[in-house]
Amino acid sequence: MAEAARGLGWHPFPGPAAVNSVRYQNRAACAYHGFCDRGGCHLDAKNSTAVSTIPRAQETGRLQVVTEAHVRRVEVDGEGRATGVSYLKGGEEYFQPADVVLLASYTYENVRLMLLSKSPAYPDGLSNNGGQVGRHYMTHATGAGVLALFPHRLNRWYGLPAQGVAIDDWAADNFDHSDLDFIGGGNLWVYSDRRPIAAARMPTFGRAPRWGSAWKAFVADNADRWTNCYIQKSTLPYEDNYLDLHPTVTDPLGDPVCRITADFKDNERRIATFVQDRMVEWFRAAGAVEIIRQGLGTMGPSTHAYGGTRMGDDPETNVVDRWGFSHEAPNLGILGASVMGTSGSHNPTLTAQALGWRTAAHLVENWSSIAG
Ligand SMILES: Cc1cc2nc3c(=O)[nH]c(=O)nc-3n(C[C@H](O)[C@H](O)[C@H](O)COP(=O)(O)OP(=O)(O)OC[C@H]3O[C@@H](n4cnc5c(N)ncnc54)[C@H](O)[C@@H]3O)c2cc1C
Ligand code: SF4
Repeated sequence: MAEAARGLGWHPFPGPAAVNSVRYQNRAACAYHGFCDRGGCHLDAKNSTAVSTIPRAQETGRLQVVTEAHVRRVEVDGEGRATGVSYLKGGEEYFQPADVVLLASYTYENVRLMLLSKSPAYPDGLSNNGGQVGRHYMTHATGAGVLALFPHRLNRWYGLPAQGVAIDDWAADNFDHSDLDFIGGGNLWVYSDRRPIAAARMPTFGRAPRWGSAWKAFVADNADRWTNCYIQKSTLPYEDNYLDLHPTVTDPLGDPVCRITADFKDNERRIATFVQDRMVEWFRAAGAVEIIRQGLGTMGPSTHAYGGTRMGDDPETNVVDRWGFSHEAPNLGILGASVMGTSGSHNPTLTAQALGWRTAAHLVENWSSIAG
């Protein structure tokens, strides 16, 4: 695939994977069995703050983690400063006082907790006097997939899903849009791993029936001759794509769940069409003999959720400032992709981690003014 891309004048690169290639910080090297495709990594080779950052912070003796604790509200004083969180653990209710609260419960729960945390200072939810909490939600639209059949075996029976060959030539504003009727683009990614059951769920590309002996024979011959890809397209923020509290559905504690309202807009549909064409071009250049174009998709929700507590200088249109602290409750910081104002064509987590470090560094440097 890399060679074919270079032939087209594109710039392929190995997709970055936050996985140990060799033993590192007492964590194993990847064993390339791919269980992490929707499962965890039982070797701790794959990065997660649960195995990398948090244990090291605990070793300092200055971090206490309270597990199995469900935060229900962020509490504030009469002036609107956060005073701590109330949470449930083992059926008991606790209050954890705090000089500073950092909310890091992922996009949906960050928004839900803030909207649930109503008080005289914030009658419509924490830090929501400007009505911005939940606004500008984005998720990577699903769909626009392409499946390809090759005349030869691909030898993909190993590896991890985070491994692949990628193209950013058609991502974001990396290319000339002057004759195009959309903003944004997509990252094209061809997986280089495969596992037996997923491989056997292959399409027959119109070359065999979908059942019986002929199907079995086709799968036996072709399971290692086909591949799929991942096309990750940017999604713009829209006023009418948002998160709020569901008016009727509640969780087992009686609190409203988060409701997602999101439409697949024309701009995103045009991106999907355009980048799907590029993917077909790439597969053809690599020698594919059959191609299936999947539907253009829907507005998710995918595994990547952005926005809802948007970052920006203007308190009228944003929830947090450039350092990730609330414009309204000065000792409340918000971490995660909920602070992002755009989605881009890439996965969120490394950017969310970088923003997390930035918020933490700002807090350390300005502790006395933020903690009050
Ligand atoms: C199947 C899947 C595949 C993905 N693949 C990728 C990928 O390849 N690359 C990538 O960049 N991103 C990927 N993502 C997205 C990535 O997982 C998230 O962006 C990332 O985990 C977000 O980090 P976070 O710390 O903000 O939230 P989380 O990792 O969700 O952590 C939030 C924590 O808060 C806790 N919590 C939530 N609510 C409460 C509450 N009320 N009280 C107390 N605790 C609470 C949760 O238990 C959790 O531990 C994937 C997601 C999924 C689901
Ligand atoms: S393939 Fe995935 S689950 Fe297996 S060791 Fe590597 S990162 Fe972990």
